Amino acid sequence: MSRVVVLGAGLTGLSAAWHAARDGVVATVLERDDEAGGACRTLSREAYRFDLTGHLLHLARDESRALLRRLGLGGAFRRHRRRAGIALAGTVTPYPIQIHTHRLPPEIRRDCVLGFVEAWARGDESEAASFADWVRQRFGEGFARHFFFPYNAKLFCAAPDELTADWVGRYVPRPGLADVVDGAFGLYRAPVGYNATFLYPRAGGIRMLPDALAAGVPGLRLGTAVTAVSLAGREVELEGGERLPFDVLVATAPLTHLAALAVDLPASARDAAARLRGVAVVNINLGVRGPAPRREHWLYVPEPRFPFYRVGLPSNHGAMAPPGCHTLSVEVSVPAGRPAPADLLARCLTGLEELDLLADRGAVEVVAEARIDPAYAVFDAARPGAVAALRDAFGAAGVVLAGRWAEWKYSTMEDALWDGAGAARQATP
Ligand SMILES: Cc1cc2nc3c(=O)[nH]c(=O)nc-3n(C[C@H](O)[C@H](O)[C@H](O)COP(=O)(O)OP(=O)(O)OC[C@H]3O[C@@H](n4cnc5c(N)ncnc54)[C@H](O)[C@@H]3O)c2cc1C
Repeated sequence: MSRVVVLGAGLTGLSAAWHAARDGVVATVLERDDEAGGACRTLSREAYRFDLTGHLLHLARDESRALLRRLGLGGAFRRHRRRAGIALAGTVTPYPIQIHTHRLPPEIRRDCVLGFVEAWARGDESEAASFADWVRQRFGEGFARHFFFPYNAKLFCAAPDELTADWVGRYVPRPGLADVVDGAFGLYRAPVGYNATFLYPRAGGIRMLPDALAAGVPGLRLGTAVTAVSLAGREVELEGGERLPFDVLVATAPLTHLAALAVDLPASARDAAARLRGVAVVNINLGVRGPAPRREHWLYVPEPRFPFYRVGLPSNHGAMAPPGCHTLSVEVSVPAGRPAPADLLARCLTGLEELDLLADRGAVEVVAEARIDPAYAVFDAARPGAVAALRDAFGAAGVVLAGRWAEWKYSTMEDALWDGAGAARQATP
């Protein structure tokens, strides 16, 4: 029987090994952290629970529900109707802004509606050269200037004309002209977009999902970092010097990291990895006494004067705080591999106070900081060529690349579950 090694016990690696086990193949899963889950984890601090930023489950595929049932999670999730807002110009307007400009100051509302009408009249359906062009074509100058450009510049630590538009399709809904006009007058619109509703565990945080997978993965080795990969020798080296041979390696760690681990990767592929850009997310979580300051599940914060791009209120959808308390989850992007500014926590607390999300610093009982690095791939002009070169180099060596990072893409937990299933099929033909 072939020896299958999986590098990484995030959702992709766990799902790959779980599916392989269902086919009778016990894969060895190597995870450097002391717990499984990767980006999909829940921290426990005193009586509070904090996911590594909001992790809400959106299921687009019927078979995902069946998979949850097979994992014993059939009744574990509750469906929520999204309550999301945009904090802008001293007010909060519902998400998506495209159909909710009515709460914004009249000048911003005018810019947005006029820009949209102009873009609509131009009717330019040509392929956009950049994310900036894509936004101008579909939404117009006003929405671009007041929301899309500052928000995405903050999230991706990059100018909107440095970004491409090949990741946005399913994530950014385009309304019709009547919707935008209705939205400017405050007429009710049903929630739209891929995340109009979401599933979240009734108890315990999102780690319930990786925990359920891990229970069906007999070959899981936690606290086991891979320090080198020999492609020609078909073995991985572990911290401490142990060597582990493989017939098939399923790699789910970031491509940039894999390129550094692979001792005999061609120089051209190493150069390709150096061209990939990503951002890390510094996630500052607060456990706070008292009721939540707002009802939303999360707020987008586009204005550059705030260090964070999003603030979550996770205890509004999950059992994350003790009775009478709530949690806040603040997300800040920095370029991958770079440290966060030393005064970040202080600036975040000030920002939360300005947004009326924190009334009393003395009520903060717990601060739990986490770093996800990388957290988001930056889709720029260099990305497609670099990913293709790396895919060729690893593919030629028989390595199966799977998941968000091995493909350097924007993807969901559901995608990770099926990426893992696909990798298992490739690894155990
Ligand atoms: C900020 C943020 C918010 C998100 N929100 C949502 C959401 O609301 N809904 C949703 O559906 N999805 C969300 N996602 C996406 C989701 O988290 C990911 O798509 C999914 O968790 C990716 O899983 P993965 O296994 O591919 O990668 P990862 O989770 O990154 O797993 C890779 C694993 O490899 C391990 N590893 C790396 N190097 C080594 C090494 N040398 N040796 C051993 N192990 C190693 C890592 O420790 C990690 O555990 C979000 C992602 C982020 C970053």
